[in-house]
Amino acid sequence: MTDHTTASYEGRPSQEGTPIVELTDIKKQFGELEVLKGIDLVVNRGENVVLLGPSGSGKSTLLRTINLLEPPTSGSLLVDGEEYAAFWPPSKPSANRVLELRRKVGMVFQQFNLFPNMTALDNVALPLRSVRRLSKADARERAAVELKRVGLIERAGHYPAQLSGGQQQRVAIARALALDPQVLLFDEPTSALDPELVGEVLKTMRVVAESGMTMVVVTHEIGFAKEIGDVNVFMDQGRVVETGGREFYDECRTDRAREFIKAVR
Ligand code: ADP
Ligand code: MG
Repeated sequence: MTDHTTASYEGRPSQEGTPIVELTDIKKQFGELEVLKGIDLVVNRGENVVLLGPSGSGKSTLLRTINLLEPPTSGSLLVDGEEYAAFWPPSKPSANRVLELRRKVGMVFQQFNLFPNMTALDNVALPLRSVRRLSKADARERAAVELKRVGLIERAGHYPAQLSGGQQQRVAIARALALDPQVLLFDEPTSALDPELVGEVLKTMRVVAESGMTMVVVTHEIGFAKEIGDVNVFMDQGRVVETGGREFYDECRTDRAREFIKAVR
C-alpha cells in the first residue's frame, strides 16, 4: 500500500454530528439574475454532502458562497456557529473576517489553481505562511507531511507543469488539508481530468472522506457520489429540489432528480 491509502487525518469525533455549516434562505443575485433563490442547507460535522444538478443550477455559486468567494445577497451563513453573511450588504466583510472563515473552510477547484512558478512543496507551504502564519521552515515541514499523505512526497520539487493533472489536483487537495479546515469544499474536482486520471483523485478524496473530514462535493461521478454521500442534495434553477440520504440514488422522489441521475449515470 502507498502512503496515501494508509494515511489518516484527524477527525473531530467529540463534535461529530453537530452543525458546522448552516445556510438559511441564502440568495445570490448577479445584477438582475437571481442564481440562488433561497437555499437552506445544514452540513453536520463528519458528514459528506454531495451537491448534484444540471449545469447552471447554482452549485458552484453555492459552494463559493460558503467561503465568501461570492458573498450572498441575503440570508444567513453560519460556520462553526459564527455568522458570516448577515452583515453583507451593505458593508463588505472585513479582510480579517474572511481570513477567519477561510481557516475553517477549505476549497478544491476544478482547475487546481496551483501557482505555476512554484514547486508542489511551495504551493502547499504558501497558504500555511499567509493563512496560518507559520514560519518558512515550519510551513515547509508541514507541507512535506501533507504531500506524503497524498502520495506525492517524491514530487515535492516538481513544478505543476511537470505533474499530471491528477497529481496537480492531489497537490491542491494537500494544500487545502494542510490548513486543517473544519470543512472542505470540492467543486467538480475531476471534471478537468483525462478519464484515466480521475481514479487517483477519487482515491485520495475517499481517504479524506474516511478520515472523518467534513466535505461538500459537487460531482457528476455518480458512482463516487453514491459511495461517499451521506447527504445528497439535488439542485435545479437555484433551488434545492430534493435532499436524500444513502437511498437517494435508488429512490429519488422527484421526477427531475430521477431523470438527472438516469442521464449522468
Ligand atoms: P453550476 O455550477 O451549477 O453549473 P453556477 O453556480 O456556475 O452553476 O452558475 C449558476 C448561474 O449563475 C449560471 O446562469 C451562471 O451563468 C451564473 N453566474 C455564475 N457566476 C456568475 C457571475 N460571476 N456573474 C454573472 N453570472 C454568473
Ligand atoms: Mg459549477
